[in-house]
Order: sequence, then structure tokens, then C-alpha cells
Amino acid sequence: MQMPGLYIHIPFCISKCLYCDFYSLAGKDDLIDGYVSAVVRESEKYDGMSFRTLYVGGGTPSLLGARRLARLMESLQSHLGIDRLVEATIEANPESADEDFLKAVRNMGFKRISIGVQSLDDDELKKAGRVHSSAQALKAVDVAFSCGIDNVSADVIIGLPGQTGESLDNTLRKLIGAGLTHISVYCLSIEEGTAFAACPPDDLPGDEFQALMYESVSGILKRSGFIHYEISNFALPGKECLHNLNYWRGGEYIGLGPSAASHMGGRRWKNASDLMAYIDDPAAVGFDEDIVDVETKMAEEAMLRLRLLEEGLDAGQLARRYGFNESKGLEERLNNLAGQKMLMKKGKKYKLAPGSILTSNRVFVDVIN
Ligand code: SF4
Repeated sequence: MQMPGLYIHIPFCISKCLYCDFYSLAGKDDLIDGYVSAVVRESEKYDGMSFRTLYVGGGTPSLLGARRLARLMESLQSHLGIDRLVEATIEANPESADEDFLKAVRNMGFKRISIGVQSLDDDELKKAGRVHSSAQALKAVDVAFSCGIDNVSADVIIGLPGQTGESLDNTLRKLIGAGLTHISVYCLSIEEGTAFAACPPDDLPGDEFQALMYESVSGILKRSGFIHYEISNFALPGKECLHNLNYWRGGEYIGLGPSAASHMGGRRWKNASDLMAYIDDPAAVGFDEDIVDVETKMAEEAMLRLRLLEEGLDAGQLARRYGFNESKGLEERLNNLAGQKMLMKKGKKYKLAPGSILTSNRVFVDVIN
């Protein structure tokens, strides 16, 4: 049986980026110690369970600092099987990823780090409400490698206020030059409840810019040896994120922390986004369970698998797992999409057509319905 992945959410940030709608809170550092204890208490529900991958994300996990992260890891190790992980990733932001933290992280077994770079243009960073500079970002990448972390990823955003093709090109070339092994590229979208939604910047590049830049970024990265293995993710061969691959393949995972999602034993649920209630009693914090019929579950897995651009979706394999009768409707919809050239089809295998990658959400709506 495939062992699940373990995700730990760290919902603390120095300040809120102007575009961010993740569940993270700024200025709550005094709650971090209590939070670490609450995560350990929640993890006790899974006593004795072994995990294949670990991903500590956020928020800003580097805000934990080495001491609190060590306490968390040691406490988890006492009752969870996390000693034979095939991958351990931690997210960090440049301003809190100093040498002491990165050395400690490496000694704790994290060999993969995902750094929130976003841009290497200081004006763009400032306009997005990021609290680090481009120099801090490059230093964090450099120090991560020198501490022996061998898979270093950076997040990059397309469509930041004031961004130009030239500045984005410059960001990418510097990151490639710094030896990054993995790059995640996201197109900015203005989400409800964010500062940008309340007060949209007047120099936001439009959708057309994003489409052009996505093509350009993809071309630059591919020419530099990166594989475009998922809609938003590029990796040098062998450096793909195994934790996220498991998620896109419909695998099982446990999420700890407020707003963390889990998929286990055929059930899917998400903890309530309520930090105070969680610290008070993680066992009593509410959760939303996604109860769906088998056809919907299969279609949702198909949608996730289609995100994997190289691997694609094997509809025959889905039918064997979920039932041939149950899969008829899905195959019909997939064939329609292939007929419209939105998917490429070979036998029972489907992949997103290159022209549909950027508009994949439209394809996914048709896959689900
Ligand atoms: S650092 Fe990340 S999680 Fe925190 S506010 Fe900024 S985008 Fe959101």
C-alpha cells in the first residue's frame, strides 16, 4: 500500500502580502509556541502511521525558527513514522531563511526547500507587499545550496503590478543562473478579501500579458533543461516535487493545522480556518467533509491528473479502479474535449493540449460536468 503524504500548515506571516488569500495571519508570533503544541496534539490522532513525504508549508514556516521547528519535528518523530521519508520539503521566505535556520533545516533532514521569491525586481516586490528584497532572495537560494539542501525551488508570479516582459525575463535568468532545480510559476489573480481586491493597482498587467509571459517563461525554462511537468511547475529531471505529485495523482495525505486538507480511506476533509480554536483544542476544531458520489470522485481525480502535462490521465486505469459503468460518462466528456482539440488522446490516455494549458480551468469544468 502506498504510504500517504504529511502536510503541516504554518499559518503565520510577518505581514500580509497584498494579493494573498491563503490562510495565514500576520503579527501573531506570540501564538507560535502554543501552535506547535497544538499541531503535535492533532498529530496524535495518527499515532503509528508512517508517511512517505513531508511538506511543511504556509504561511511562512521559516518564521518558526530553528528551535521551534526542532521541537515540532522531535515531537512528531516520537509517534509518527517520518524517519524513512523519500522527500521532506519546507517552505521559507527570504527574510527569515538565514544561515542558522537553513543549516538546522538540513540537519533535520529537509533536502528540499521552496523559497517565496516571487520576483527579483525590488519595485515589483514592494508593490506586492512583499517584505524581502531581491538580494535577500538570491542570498537565501545561495545559502540553501551551501547548507547542502540539494533541491531548491522558487515561486515566481506572472502579472505583478508594474511587471514587464523584461523584468520577468531578468528574474528567470537570475534564478536559473543561481542553480535553481525547481521553479513554480503562478499567474496573479485578484482574489476576494485581499488588499488588491479592495484597491486594485492601476499598473496591473492584463490577461493578455499573462498569457504571453506564461508562454515565454515556459520556453525559457524548457530551453534551460526544465521539464514542464505540471501546469505551474517546472523541474530539472528527477527534481519534481514528490509530495505534490502524490496529490495530483489522487493519492492519500494527511494535513495538520487550520485550513489543512486531508484525503484518507476514501474520505476528504478540511480543517476549519480558525487558529484560535485550533490552539485551544485541535481535536474539537471543526472540519468540512467533502461527500461526493463515485462519478464525481473519479472526475475530480481525472482533473487533477490532467494537470500533469507529461504524465496525463490514463482513463483505463481509472475505470479499473472506480468501475467501468461509472466511468462511461467521464470518458464521453473526455472524448468530446479531445474532439474539440482541448485534450490530446492516445488510446485511453489523455493530456492537456498545449493550447489549453493556460485555460485549463475551462477544460476542467467540462471534465467535472
Ligand atoms: S508570505 Fe505567502 S502566505 Fe504569507 S502573506 Fe505573503 S503570500 Fe501569503
